[in-house]
Amino acid sequence: MLSKETLDPTDWPAFRAQAHAMLDDMLDYTEHLRERPVWQPIPTEVKEGFLSPLPHQATPLAQLHARFLTEIAPYVIGNAHPGFMGWVQGGGTPVGMVAEMLTAGLNANVGGREQIPVAVEQQILIWMRELFGFPMSAGGLFVTGTSIANFIAIVIARTMQLGVDVRRDGVFGSGQLLVAYTSAGAHGCVSQAMDLAGFGTAALRQIPMNQAYQIDLHALANAIEEDKQAGRQPFLVVGSAGTVDVGAIDDLTGLAALAKQHQLWFHIDGAYGALGMMSPEIAPRLAGIEQADSIAFDFHKWGQVPYDAGYILVRDQAHQLAAFAAPANYLKREKRGMAAGSPWPCDLGPDLSRGFRALKTWFTLATFGTEKLGTIIAGTCALAQYLHHYIKSDPRLELLAPVNLNIVCFRYVGNHEKAATSTTEQQTHNQLNAELVIQLQESGIAAPSSTTINGQFAIRVAIVNHRTTVSNIDQLIAATLRIGTQLENTVIPNHLTGLS
Ligand SMILES: *Cc1c(COP(=O)(O)O)cnc(C)c1O
Repeated sequence: MLSKETLDPTDWPAFRAQAHAMLDDMLDYTEHLRERPVWQPIPTEVKEGFLSPLPHQATPLAQLHARFLTEIAPYVIGNAHPGFMGWVQGGGTPVGMVAEMLTAGLNANVGGREQIPVAVEQQILIWMRELFGFPMSAGGLFVTGTSIANFIAIVIARTMQLGVDVRRDGVFGSGQLLVAYTSAGAHGCVSQAMDLAGFGTAALRQIPMNQAYQIDLHALANAIEEDKQAGRQPFLVVGSAGTVDVGAIDDLTGLAALAKQHQLWFHIDGAYGALGMMSPEIAPRLAGIEQADSIAFDFHKWGQVPYDAGYILVRDQAHQLAAFAAPANYLKREKRGMAAGSPWPCDLGPDLSRGFRALKTWFTLATFGTEKLGTIIAGTCALAQYLHHYIKSDPRLELLAPVNLNIVCFRYVGNHEKAATSTTEQQTHNQLNAELVIQLQESGIAAPSSTTINGQFAIRVAIVNHRTTVSNIDQLIAATLRIGTQLENTVIPNHLTGLS
């Protein structure tokens, strides 16, 4: 039976009214974000509401939107909220939000072909070449996030080391034992990428860090020599521009020199830190980044672009093509018509169909300008220093790692001795601080996360959100001290009396 039905509205005026209401609700939500808790526990009934069977019949959009407002919007993790300081997550912006709406309206598939969305993505590449001091030969690609961008870099490095035949023969076809290097402070996704690329995580040497939590260059040089002596083939070193635990930046110039000396691919995981290039204060600390063979970073962290917007920048696009393009396809493309414009984004990475992530990024960079974005980035670091100085001034708190950028690791020690040395004392501190972090999150006031620094449980505050201000840090401090005191006096007093 031939049907005239489509999925477009039958009553456009009614749909238009509903759509405007949805936009207004979301603007209200963002405008009044500060009045909400950062996060709140999810009631069981709400969770169970998402266990229903497949909907065979229609439900009115207005009804589903009402559910969105009561059952979805209140129970997100809260990274848009100024009190969110957990992990490393961006806040997004209203500009990014409306750009996403335009993107969805166009529904462009940016795998390739002759269309301006491809040119917009190219525009971002031109901007990134300039930002990072990369040459005209550089290529780039939007991906979900830095995890995948790091993976893509490893695949390119592998192809450069073993030649394009590796794409047919696989890594073991070469008979070489390839090894790679990164710091012990590198993000876990680097190790995962080695796994995914077929090398296995054991082929990644995790080099110890120095006092500043940077990769120890002497230990790295020794490890490379050792592997060479043993007949293994070093091919890649991954530097960090902003480690996830403490925000350390490796000595990128030193790494570039070592990589050159040993002919290693030099990749940088700059997931959040790389965009520090937009701040004149922070850029000098990223010196050496311009020498990388590839950089992975996220616009969705310090760039404040809504999720997701990861990016891989490669010094020489030819290397990217060698690793990913199917030459039979991309060399035979048309010179005119819709199939022109080769190479296409799909030739530069594993995705064929791809969304238009470039649009929200283009709007964000152009609406605010890099000066403003750089000021926001530097501002998060200034807040970290503010918190750092407070911690130094209050004996009830103890700093656990140097504050390099926007991340502060500390713990509550209360009125007890800081240098808890015995294992039981350590455990007590760790327990109290673990509970403290959970209570902070449940309070809805401020939401830090946690990490372990030299065996010590740390409250980890990562300030990434452009909305976070001094008053949010003051609230965090007040809540930490209040909850810390309560825990000391009530929850585990027996453990702690042994401490004083
Ligand atoms: C966030 C982060 C990653 C992972 O990036 P995704 O975008 O979450 O995939 C990798 N490395 C560092 C240093 C990060 O901060």
